[in-house]
Amino acid sequence: MAVIPGGRRSLSRGLAALAFMAVGAVAVVCAARTGAPAIPLSGRAGPTPRSAVLFIGDGMGQAYVTVTRVARGGSGGRLRMDTLPYTALCRTHSSDSPVTDSAAAASAMACGQKTANGVLCEDATAIYAKRDGRKLESIAVWAKKNGMHVGLVTTTTVTHATPAAFYANHRDREAEDEIAKQTIASGFDLILGGGRTFFAEDLRAEARRQGWEIVETADELRAIDDPGRHVLGLFAERHLPYQPEIEAGHKQTEAGKTAEGMPGTAAGGLARGGESRDATRTAPTLPEMTRWAVDILKKSDRPFFLMVEGGRIDHAGHANWARTLVDETAAFDEAIGYAIDTLDPKTTLVLVTADHETGGLAMNGYPDEKDGIWSLYRDPFGSKGDGPYPVITFSSGPGTTRQKHEPPHGPDDLRPSGIALESAAHTGVDVTLYAWGAGAEEVHGTLENTAIYSLLRGYLEGRPPAR
Ligand SMILES: [Zn+2]
Repeated sequence: MAVIPGGRRSLSRGLAALAFMAVGAVAVVCAARTGAPAIPLSGRAGPTPRSAVLFIGDGMGQAYVTVTRVARGGSGGRLRMDTLPYTALCRTHSSDSPVTDSAAAASAMACGQKTANGVLCEDATAIYAKRDGRKLESIAVWAKKNGMHVGLVTTTTVTHATPAAFYANHRDREAEDEIAKQTIASGFDLILGGGRTFFAEDLRAEARRQGWEIVETADELRAIDDPGRHVLGLFAERHLPYQPEIEAGHKQTEAGKTAEGMPGTAAGGLARGGESRDATRTAPTLPEMTRWAVDILKKSDRPFFLMVEGGRIDHAGHANWARTLVDETAAFDEAIGYAIDTLDPKTTLVLVTADHETGGLAMNGYPDEKDGIWSLYRDPFGSKGDGPYPVITFSSGPGTTRQKHEPPHGPDDLRPSGIALESAAHTGVDVTLYAWGAGAEEVHGTLENTAIYSLLRGYLEGRPPAR
């Protein structure tokens, strides 16, 4: 994609028989759960998917998509997700707040019911960190029970809220040590991300006893090409480094240098967020993990469910790091591109969405196209030639205060925020759900995020979807 002037960087065993079953007129039954009125579906006939990929851009509100598109390709640019043919708007509220956290949002998508912020796949009777609710079964756990291959890919710890909602039940998303035991117990086919720190040697030994193969570098992952193995990728102590850091690390490795003095690597041996320095040289990027996962799942005859999370889009948003946010969203978009270039739209449904928006990202008017969005603008209606003002801002976050950590792109990455918070707040705006492939035509209108579960469950079970 062209770089703009002024921009500085640039289902179950036997379900195969149902795979091509046409969907007839469909009815809707999920209203009882959400209290929302039933939404009539289109009833258009189309193939029923036997496999599905759910991409979740954590924090990736619509402004993130727009800013990434314009930053990378100018106003006329197009991201891969822009090309997906069907869209809907999703409401993201949790059971106890108009503004969700990632645990409640992922639980809604994974399990089909709203829960309280901070709770993983327990019903709305759970009280965050205090009381368990009724345990819910995620679409991934259901798929595994029904003989499908199941994979999770993330750039956060594999025990973080979004991936965890697909296999764990816990009243407290922060209990990652306990969630790690549920990671192993899931019996999924592949789980890739960070979080070594939550897998002590005794837990690793237990994982190996249960048939897991643990890999810690991109090279070790690439060496596996057999779809019949359980692969647990733990590529960093905690979250994976940001995309530009991994790219810089890979370049360093290619050049045969050490990681000493590498841009974006903090003193003391740790990159931001506690990632190990080695991870910048050895960890795979999100597109690399997604390519590996898609390729290996395609090798099997079994239908599959894969969830891919761009987990650090949200972290860049919390930090008000706009350029890093663009890098993370662009990497997520590249991963989506590989899926839609590689998978069969007659048998596979690809959904792309966000769990919520982070920080209230805004692109303020009116920069000159040639100056781009990293420039400043003057208010054309201001009586005194007001400005210049930054084009990219946030509604909350540390952008107005001193940063604790140096962003990958240097201080210039930090954008102003309206409400000074150490970490930007999520916002409660609707997010976009994009769809491609078999069954995508049922994605339209406005939906609760719980409808994602209903669509996937219905399709993968080989029956008309309920949403
Ligand atoms: Zn967040």
